[in-house]
Amino acid sequence: MTVLVTGGAGYIGSHMVLDLVDRGEDVVVLDNLSTGFAAAVPDGVPLVKGDMGDMALVRETIARHRVDAIAHFAARIVVPESVADPLGYYLNNTSKSRSLIQAAVDAGIRDFIFSSTAAVYGNPATNPVTEETPPNPVSPYGRSKLMTEWMLEDTARATGLRYAILRYFNVAGADPRGRAGQSTPQATHLIKVACQAALGRRDGMDVFGTDFPTPDGSCLRDYIHVSDLARAHLLALDHLREGGENLLLNCAYGKGYSVLDVVETVKRVSGKDFQVRRGPRRAGDPAAIVATGEKIRRTLGWRPAHENLEEIVRHALAWESRLGEPAVA
Ligand code: UDP
Repeated sequence: MTVLVTGGAGYIGSHMVLDLVDRGEDVVVLDNLSTGFAAAVPDGVPLVKGDMGDMALVRETIARHRVDAIAHFAARIVVPESVADPLGYYLNNTSKSRSLIQAAVDAGIRDFIFSSTAAVYGNPATNPVTEETPPNPVSPYGRSKLMTEWMLEDTARATGLRYAILRYFNVAGADPRGRAGQSTPQATHLIKVACQAALGRRDGMDVFGTDFPTPDGSCLRDYIHVSDLARAHLLALDHLREGGENLLLNCAYGKGYSVLDVVETVKRVSGKDFQVRRGPRRAGDPAAIVATGEKIRRTLGWRPAHENLEEIVRHALAWESRLGEPAVA
């Protein structure tokens, strides 16, 4: 039997594919390559180039590869972009997810893992959040993901579908063995951008807002290593396969770092100075979002192996150096 990984040519999905392959599982990747790369899919893993909203293609892929579980990563993920293009986000992240879930139910697939996000919490009244904290997204991105969570919960009540919803906090770093990493040159995520600046691939960087109600005025986030996150997915898959209950879990370490902390860490680890411009806030950014990560440790026995900002940055820098990309404006 085979695990279908949507978005498996993308950043997080490709790490999950590696972990599945490493433990001998059959995998098929479905990716439209809008932000992913065919080269990110390991040799021997079939890549179906297409859209998860293409129901006929999804049905055909499920049947041909005898898919029995789905890990659904494919999504658009940039908060300010979602503010500018809400309908694009609802189409891609919500409508197409509905179509994928429908295909899964029709094919009798039981186990479904969904990439959700800390953005469903919006601006929480208190930090750290837990899974009991009421969702209150402040961006179309967060809303587009929360609606898909609800679809899964409602569908699981009405059908045999079982789900693991994993709410990712700020994912960063790269495969410690150097096989995968964040490859999109135009990626907007903080650690990627700072690493590009450190390597002279962009002309410095901007800090989006230094007037937030946080200790140093910049936003606080809970940064988690992509390999620890991939590991959480494997544990969630095992849990579902063993007949465990549906899961809603925050994936986080429980420690908040400010944007300025991250910038300083990238400078220290890289040994490079670069220009840091203090600019205005970016649309849709909550001031602070950190989770305890207690439930995932308790429920799945998840034990992070890379819970260290310097290590995350070291791996991100190593991957960025290997990419040898052209300069980004
Ligand atoms: N950020 C920044 N400069 C950048 C990219 C990001 O100051 O070039 C900030 C962003 O405003 C947010 C934090 O870094 O406060 C994390 O942003 P990112 O896009 O990495 O993840 P998000 O939290 O939006 O999912």
